[in-house]
Amino acid sequence: MERANADAEAELQIRLHATDGRLLRAIEDALARIGAGTFGVCEACKQPISEARLEAVPWTHLCRKCKEQRGA
Ligand SMILES: [Zn+2]
Repeated sequence: MERANADAEAELQIRLHATDGRLLRAIEDALARIGAGTFGVCEACKQPISEARLEAVPWTHLCRKCKEQRGA
């Protein structure tokens, strides 16, 4: 019972964060990349994205350097 509550709470958190359509799309992209085995690789320079960055922004598809270069 307690576990079910925790799951529901986690889902609510995800839903709250996913109200931003762009973020939801980014999460879906990340899930697709996990399925394709390319998760954690920068799309721009093809270098691995640091674990610290992935922990902070799990749905990112750019390494920190490329993200900063794009000014986003
Ligand atoms: Zn990069």
